[in-house]
Amino acid sequence: MVGLVVVCHSRPLARAAVALASEMTQGRPLAVEVAAGLDETTFGTDAVAISEAIAAADSGDGVVVLMDLGSAVLSAELALEMVDEPSRVVLSPAPLVEGLVAAAVAAASGADRHEVADEARNGLAGKQSHLEQDVTVEQTPADGTTVKVINKHGLHARPAARLVTEIRAFDARVELRNATTGTSWVPASSLTRVATLGALQNHILEVRGEGREAIEAVNRVVALAAAAFGETDAEDADHTPGGGASPGIGTGPALRIREGAIDLPDVPSQGPATEWRRLESALADVRQEIARLHSPIFDAHRLLLDDDDLLADVHARLDRNEAAPQAWSAATARTAAAFDDLTDPYLRGRAADVRAVSQQVLRALLKLPTPAPDGDGVLLAADLTPAEAAALDPERIAGVVLAAGSPTSHAAILTRTRGIPAVVGAGPQILQIPDGTLIAMDGSTGEVVADPSEPVLAAFRARAQQQRVRRTEALTRAAAPAVTTGGVPIEVGANIGSVEDARAAAANGADLAGLVRTEFLFLDRDEAPTVDEQVAVYRAIAEALGGRRITLRTLDAGSDKPLRYLPPPAEANPFLGVRGLRHSLAHPAMFAEQLTAIVRVARETPVSVMFPMVTTADELRAARAMLAEAGDAPGLQVGMMVEVPAAALRAAEFVPYVDFFSIGTNDLTQYTLAAERGNAALLSLTSGLDPAVAQLIDHVGRAAGDRVLVAVCGELAGDEAAVPKLLASGVRELSVAPGLVPLVKQAVRAA
Ligand code: PEP
Ligand code: MG
Repeated sequence: MVGLVVVCHSRPLARAAVALASEMTQGRPLAVEVAAGLDETTFGTDAVAISEAIAAADSGDGVVVLMDLGSAVLSAELALEMVDEPSRVVLSPAPLVEGLVAAAVAAASGADRHEVADEARNGLAGKQSHLEQDVTVEQTPADGTTVKVINKHGLHARPAARLVTEIRAFDARVELRNATTGTSWVPASSLTRVATLGALQNHILEVRGEGREAIEAVNRVVALAAAAFGETDAEDADHTPGGGASPGIGTGPALRIREGAIDLPDVPSQGPATEWRRLESALADVRQEIARLHSPIFDAHRLLLDDDDLLADVHARLDRNEAAPQAWSAATARTAAAFDDLTDPYLRGRAADVRAVSQQVLRALLKLPTPAPDGDGVLLAADLTPAEAAALDPERIAGVVLAAGSPTSHAAILTRTRGIPAVVGAGPQILQIPDGTLIAMDGSTGEVVADPSEPVLAAFRARAQQQRVRRTEALTRAAAPAVTTGGVPIEVGANIGSVEDARAAAANGADLAGLVRTEFLFLDRDEAPTVDEQVAVYRAIAEALGGRRITLRTLDAGSDKPLRYLPPPAEANPFLGVRGLRHSLAHPAMFAEQLTAIVRVARETPVSVMFPMVTTADELRAARAMLAEAGDAPGLQVGMMVEVPAAALRAAEFVPYVDFFSIGTNDLTQYTLAAERGNAALLSLTSGLDPAVAQLIDHVGRAAGDRVLVAVCGELAGDEAAVPKLLASGVRELSVAPGLVPLVKQAVRAA
């Protein structure tokens, strides 16, 4: 009799499956062995145990092995190398439960191992014919495997991107064809080729593979198809709420960042190798920019940058002596046209992805500036780079809705600083909203409604009116100091990133600039600002604030704020890399120039200086030594940001070297909770009110005592609900987006 072996990650599951199969054989004996789990309760599979099970099950008629997922297949393959007669063993691609039941019935009835294996393969047939609609697997040995596309919008760019990403990881060449429309075979490793399948909902795709991991790869396609290639129903919904990122209500027509046509310079090719190097460097820049946004929304874009088919076309054009911009532009135009030719409007719309990436690479290649939205209304975008967010004009942009992002991402902070209502993490479906559609959004609650009915619009307007009343009331008292009910004066400052922000801060009654993000002067340009340029801008900021104290934070470059002229080395985890003070100490000449500029301004007007991302006392001492080199300025206050958990825990060590601590809750939260601040999937882990973060803030307050002032300049300071808790931890200065100063002062007065 043919023996059966069940390879499964869970031992109880394997035993239960065997019990079920045994029921079906109506008392006839079976030769079944189980090789499952590492022990009774630990999940796993073990090749040696499998080879032993095969030996035990084989009475000379051979063995059919049924497996569950992933590494079970790999372990079984390895086990095959250990058995004496591998030719007598068939590894079945059948699903474990249905396959085992069918195989058990066949084996018990005396079928040979090929018949048993065939029966197992067809184990799903009954369920398929019964259920019809959502069946995704048919195994037909002659034609290969087929899967059904169940996604509402078909195999469009995002699910296709998921498929391509996963299949590339296998050592196999997998091909697909659309059996419903009768296309030819295309490689599953090319997003552009997969898109040309025009696979719509309910279309049947044929899958075939060759190579070492062909079975696993084809099985993976089957599993992915069954799981709608990772798309959830929620993503298909018309609107899902996002997270509030910048308070306020915005209504207006949907608009997008429009990229004007890029003029390609008429410069001859410098030879295929040189042109390829130019293009490669632009592709690397864009890859980095996309990686920094950490959004699955850009998976399709990222894959296009590595698309074999597209790059082969580019190479061919470079070899024909086209210059890099021309070759890239023509190859991407060809790819976009292939999408345009598809019949499904949704898939046709994906040409936009190709054109967006094409433009992004051309901009990097030709070193063109960041584009800005063209028009007035509510900006809808996948995500914004800090440079794009910084370029938004609050007079024209009533609100921002981002498919990705999180409230402490730098893009979100910049919208808050500019007083532009913003919702982040609203999901990719917002990108399908046609331009010009009326949008109503609430940056406090995260609500976004496209094409609202009259009553809904009226409700938004009523809420906006209430907010205006509250704000006006707060504004009338904004210039007055904020003192708690217990009589403790609290300075409420503004976080600013430009002279314009400084004006807004003054207009909103800020007592000081508690954080000047000096990087705005250094980003999005081709060389560092000179000392004179810096002095002029810092001075202008102080003047705009009417001579109130300005807290200049030294350059916080790196991570998601790289400098074009000093790109960081490739880092797997840029947020854990050379950023903030680490970056400045690594580039001492530029740091020395900034400190010189700061000291010069501090001789004219009240200035505090602080260092970002300090981790150790050695770093702080090194920074102070460089500051001393830059010269003296009476009245210059020196502080550090506390945004690394280690710095919070060793606050006492820093006390002798600083006049103040400024707690950066945005970074402190991301490092404490190990949840990257820009990651939309981790919205629930971005709260600065997390008890673990609160403990660190408390610890800093206690270490500082009366000797060192404690400020908070992270976004938490602008959260009215958090204000009383921060004050209770010993915080005596809050620095928030300019528009929030009046409301935070009111919250202090109520505390
Ligand atoms: C912070 O990390 O909380 C902070 C204020 O700095 P930034 O947001 O600029 O990193
Ligand atoms: Mg920070």
